[in-house]
Amino acid sequence: MVIPDAASHRSRHEAIVNAIDRAVRQIDDRLVRFHRSAVSKVRPDEDLLHLGAHGASEFGAWSEERKQTPPLDQPAFETLVALHESLLNHLALLAERAWKTEKVPVEEYDALLDKVTAFHDQAIRLSKAFQAAISDIDPLTGAQTRQVMQRDLKREVVRARRSGSPACIALADIDHFKLINDTHGHGVGDQVLAAVSTSLIDNLRPYDSVYRYGGEEFLICLPDTGPEEARRVLERVRARIAKETFTSDDGREVSLTVSFGVTLLNPRRSIPEVVERADKALYVAKEAGRNRVEVCASVLELRCDHRCGAHERTRRHGPTDGCHRFGLRGPVRHRGQPRVLVLSRCHGRLCRGLRAQPAGRQRLRRGRREAEQR
Ligand code: GH3
Ligand code: MG
Ligand code: MG
Repeated sequence: MVIPDAASHRSRHEAIVNAIDRAVRQIDDRLVRFHRSAVSKVRPDEDLLHLGAHGASEFGAWSEERKQTPPLDQPAFETLVALHESLLNHLALLAERAWKTEKVPVEEYDALLDKVTAFHDQAIRLSKAFQAAISDIDPLTGAQTRQVMQRDLKREVVRARRSGSPACIALADIDHFKLINDTHGHGVGDQVLAAVSTSLIDNLRPYDSVYRYGGEEFLICLPDTGPEEARRVLERVRARIAKETFTSDDGREVSLTVSFGVTLLNPRRSIPEVVERADKALYVAKEAGRNRVEVCASVLELRCDHRCGAHERTRRHGPTDGCHRFGLRGPVRHRGQPRVLVLSRCHGRLCRGLRAQPAGRQRLRRGRREAEQR
């Protein structure tokens, strides 16, 4: 794989802002020429009279090529394109009449001005949105910044709490990156860093997010994903990166691997606590030889192994997908036996079970002792 444009996502957004700004300037230029011809009664330039002017214009051709691809495949951009087309057609009709006849009805001229205002407003709105998006993107890697990460994770925690469906985060760290810098130089290191970021973004699912956490570390947010599924997704990404060869601008070929530490975005923990857990899992991955995905051990303990309505579904989807235990109460006595009350949430549904589980053994022993003393 040839190393892509270092910050392709950022430059894509910059190109959009520039294209919109150019389209606005070109509309203004057409309006000036229209007024000159209308006031002085001289024949307008041919391009002003052309009814299919939108398709022939720079913005028309540019938007036609990109309107199906993200981030332009959205109604707000469709509206801008439609306004551009309608404005140019209206202008062509009035330009034809304005220089030949004494007077264009004021309603028609007002309608044209309304379209100009609507086009300007929509262009400014979109341009501002894309400019804001640019500042959310790390200039070197094209991943999102840490500031955006804080905002998004808070939102994700609220969503996970409300819906009860799990979300995972992962820390990804390039293995022996210092060696890459030392061997090929910092410049190649930068390019490799950008390439890894692009590889992560391209190989994850569209609703996953990649943030530059710092240095050569990325934080990945996987919404609606349990730990087992997160492991599967990241394992696929890890294997792809390990197979790739990155070629730098000066033709150097670099192979590398990435280690991942995964944990559940537990809504009851603070974000720094959750990130710390992912970091611990990452540490385990490094210690175990790198180029691997490790899931936080305490997350894997969480499995639904008691009877509940969602049990069958849970079994089919894997023991930890959409199902996590969030509380142990007890010990309690049930039919004369000390038991631990397990509270779980399975696919968003609260369920309870009485178990003598390994995680509750200590409490269980305590419970037995207390029961015997009674
Ligand atoms: P490990 O497998 O344990 O993660 O080893 P490592 O060499 O990747 O880890 P270490 O923390 O020793 O080194 C990280 C290196 O990443 C050191 C630092 O110079 C480099 N680095 C951090 N940010 C950048 C960057 O933006 N560009 C470049 N080229 N290098 C960077
Ligand atoms: Mg590191
Ligand atoms: Mg590293």
